Amino acid sequence: MSTPMMQQIAGLKREAGEAVLLTRMGDFYEILGEDAVRAAPVLEIALTLRGKGSESETPMCGVPHFALDSYLPKLLAAGFSAAIAEPTAKAEEVKGLLPRAIKRIITPGTWLDDDARWLCALHRTGQTWGLALLQLASGALRVLPGEGEEALRATLDRLGPQELILAEGAEDLADLEAARTRLPAWRFEPSRAKQQVLAFFGWQHLEGIGLDPYPAALGALAALLDHVETTQKGRPAHLQGVSLELGASGPLVDATSARHLELLANGMDGGRAGSLLALLDQCRTRLGSRLLKAWIEQPLRDRSALERRWSQVGWLTEDRRRGPIQTLLAQVPDLDRLLGRVAMGLATPPELAQLREGLAVLQKLPTRIQDEGWASEVADLGLWPADTPLCTPLLLELQRCLAEAPPLDLEKGGVIREGVDAELDAVRRLARDAKQVMLELEEEERAASGIQSLKIKYNRVFGYYFEITKANLASAPAHFLRKQTLANAERFTTEKLVAFEQRLLSAESDQVKLEAIQLQRLLALVLEHRAELTRLARAVAALDVLAALAERARLSGWTRPELGEERELVLAAARHPMLESRLGRECIPNDLQFTAVQPMAVVTGPNMGGKSTFLRTAALLVVLAQTGSFVPAELMRFGLVDRIFTRIGASDQLAKGQSTFMVEMTETARILNQTTSASLVILDEIGRGTSTRDGLALAEAIAVFLRDLKGGAPRTLFATHYFEMTKLADDSRIQNLHVEVQEWEEQLHFLHRVAQGPADRSYGIQVARLAGLPKSVIQKAQRLLAQAPEGPLKAPTVLQPALPLFEAEPDPLRAELEALDLNRMTPLEALNWIAQKRA
Ligand code: ADP
Repeated sequence: MSTPMMQQIAGLKREAGEAVLLTRMGDFYEILGEDAVRAAPVLEIALTLRGKGSESETPMCGVPHFALDSYLPKLLAAGFSAAIAEPTAKAEEVKGLLPRAIKRIITPGTWLDDDARWLCALHRTGQTWGLALLQLASGALRVLPGEGEEALRATLDRLGPQELILAEGAEDLADLEAARTRLPAWRFEPSRAKQQVLAFFGWQHLEGIGLDPYPAALGALAALLDHVETTQKGRPAHLQGVSLELGASGPLVDATSARHLELLANGMDGGRAGSLLALLDQCRTRLGSRLLKAWIEQPLRDRSALERRWSQVGWLTEDRRRGPIQTLLAQVPDLDRLLGRVAMGLATPPELAQLREGLAVLQKLPTRIQDEGWASEVADLGLWPADTPLCTPLLLELQRCLAEAPPLDLEKGGVIREGVDAELDAVRRLARDAKQVMLELEEEERAASGIQSLKIKYNRVFGYYFEITKANLASAPAHFLRKQTLANAERFTTEKLVAFEQRLLSAESDQVKLEAIQLQRLLALVLEHRAELTRLARAVAALDVLAALAERARLSGWTRPELGEERELVLAAARHPMLESRLGRECIPNDLQFTAVQPMAVVTGPNMGGKSTFLRTAALLVVLAQTGSFVPAELMRFGLVDRIFTRIGASDQLAKGQSTFMVEMTETARILNQTTSASLVILDEIGRGTSTRDGLALAEAIAVFLRDLKGGAPRTLFATHYFEMTKLADDSRIQNLHVEVQEWEEQLHFLHRVAQGPADRSYGIQVARLAGLPKSVIQKAQRLLAQAPEGPLKAPTVLQPALPLFEAEPDPLRAELEALDLNRMTPLEALNWIAQKRA
């Protein structure tokens, strides 16, 4: 027979559905039954049995309630959702089983941690699709309609949602790393969707957001809002509106290129360190860091908007202006996240205090600007919009009511200040008096009994009592009523003590109740100000990002870019930003001269010469400039770029088991299909993945395709080890560049300097020496090379240890080399192999 508790759990479990049910019992969240079996290994906690040996025996595991936040990410990372059930009444108020209800369902896309998580819903009708995206923490809600699989994939890759909601039976997207949630197809029905969206926001009509022409997007939005309502058990009040993004033009940098360029994450372990974002992020607030990421992901394509950002950054490069502003910003908490927590009923009293401190700091900002005499400049530059609300009334009320340092737990009391609520003050006085009375009572009984050690003690189960040790038991007064017997002491109460105890407990619980009412009032007040708070947060974030960009510009001596002619890209003394920050002065500056008449270059030179770095530098500087940042160059003049395409390396896809060459060609196809004359194209070692002949032919054909693009060739940098490619520069639209190398005592020195003209010879053999090939092999190669016919332009002087050179005499090492399957080796295995051969 199932116990009432097990029946309750079964009911909750039905409501939780697929989600793992965590039920608060005392100080633990317990997981029972099948859920426990699924969750225990993921959480790395012990699986035990509840009601062992009884009929209701069931598997169980649990986590301490205070540690819930550290266990949840493990569940979410494993693709589970978690339904959190809490008691709906207090133990004192109910006899028997506590009633419990699911308070919220946490899914990978709705978990509120510091990361900017996106919950995403997708609806497709034929080629047309619609995406709805929500960042629950900040309340940002976006709708993106679009056409075609490729654009869909690019958008999803760029946004990287943690959870994707799809209709049951709808086609999935292969290897998108996001948890999947399936909802019934009718929830995506556009006819129903409109009603759902109107109801959710309490609107009369939808014209305002302009979704009418995009039924698929509307369907996705409705399904997303459904999911939010189900998981949050209501409509979070901070979701206020929807922004429709018609990203027809797509992102400036697609996800693959962003990875290649290490815009947001490094190419080594995918962490933030070493990325462009990490380099720029001198932000003082989380608001700023988040916005900076969005700016890098979506650089501008608008001249006036860019000029404005550069001016704003320029003004802030002066330490005397930026310094005080950043000092203030450093004290501002994550307003978006706090507002989100309030809206979802999760905000704690200390978080409310954080909001208060943040608002207090922000009051000083306009005053400071005024006092310094910056008001008109700041207004002209739009650094701090004059109509930015400061939420002063809210601040004053929080200051008046909320305690200086309120406790986390409402039960402890002391969240609300004295003098806010007369009734609250009265019960507090009562509680305080009762304690005093209790002390007096203790003194009185001690004197009467003559027991010097007599004390009133307290525990949670028995409440207040007198404790008398066995030795003193004989002196216990007659009016002492026995409560409990211990091994070496007895516990007593008295009528007076019982009366005072009741008075005290009821005063304390009254206090908690009254404080809770006040706290709710304050939280409601915060929500009333949500529109203002959101606008304030926007202003803070933008100012913070601009100051961060200015600080980077100042620290590293960067300069303001200039807008020039269409298809122009002129760089003087340009440095790779991340390399510069690592190497300092040892980073060699380089120049580039692209104009509409000559917008392409073939860059030749030995491996390790600096070709790839040079290509990336050009792309990174365009990203920086169009983000609104200054750039690491003495001069940068350029025409706006509409898209940046890169084809660099393939290490990341290799892991997924595609062949290098296939990946390379798929990416190249995408570039050729999408590039326009206003794009920037970076092609590094194209055709490397196939045989020399094929590779060369393909590389040449690709270059010619770009050169002859309708409307003019896009700005293109082509790095290649195929020396034959240099003859492309016979066409006046293409220039030859090479990385300089010095040979000295048979050693190669890479100068990392880019110079005009083709590389004058191949350095393959020297590079092979550097790589540690045995001396005999090198000498043999040099002899063969000396015999080979001269003429760099005609003979296939391939820069890698050239294949034909070794064919004269079969070399065992070479045979072994060829037998290696590089696609299946890790870099470490390759290194080990080399080390072994050398020994
Ligand atoms: P390639 O593409 O020609 O094989 P890379 O661009 O990968 O060469 O450069 C090889 C190494 O040389 C890089 O890892 C970097 O450390 C160094 N390097 C490249 N360019 C520069 C530069 N401009 N200044 C200083 N070091 C550089």
